[in-house]
Amino acid sequence: KGDPRLKGISDSITVVPHFPKPGIMFQDITTLLSNPKAFKDTIDIFVDRYRDMDISVVAGIEARGFMFAPTIALAIGAKFIPLRKPGKLPGEVISEAYELEYGKDRLEMHVGAVQRGDRALVIDDLVATGGTLSAATRLLERVGAEVVECACVIGLPEVKVIQILLL
Ligand code: AMP
Repeated sequence: KGDPRLKGISDSITVVPHFPKPGIMFQDITTLLSNPKAFKDTIDIFVDRYRDMDISVVAGIEARGFMFAPTIALAIGAKFIPLRKPGKLPGEVISEAYELEYGKDRLEMHVGAVQRGDRALVIDDLVATGGTLSAATRLLERVGAEVVECACVIGLPEVKVIQILLL
């Protein structure tokens, strides 16, 4: 709040009405990624917040969480792990289902990717209902990790830029 970088980040996001279906105001972060200043400011805000919070693992949610989480993980000296859609990870996985607007989906995590006692940060591009982040949090907690926070570039419905949550 009050951070002068937020307006530039917000302005770099493109809103596409009625994508991928009628009524959805799609928040397109590809124009943030192609704006080096906005992209760097976004990463810097997360890195400044998390560098001294003793985070040992940054979990990115497929697919758009993958565009932010690895860079944050490298900068704060934490490991990156992917939380993926069903059937993508080759090893043994645990999975959690979550509700979508229409129907259900699942997130999967490799067994052994996270240890008991790991301190986790979950990253996605956007939070709407929080269902996706809740499933991610359950996965990490099932293996004994502590989810310190979840963070997104965009928070709906008011369209806030840089949204930090403790679920
Ligand atoms: P939710 O589980 O309801 O919090 O939805 C968040 C997930 O859905 C994130 O992975 C987003 O990438 C995606 N999502 C939901 N609504 C939108 C939107 N309006 N624009 C872009 N992505 C969205």
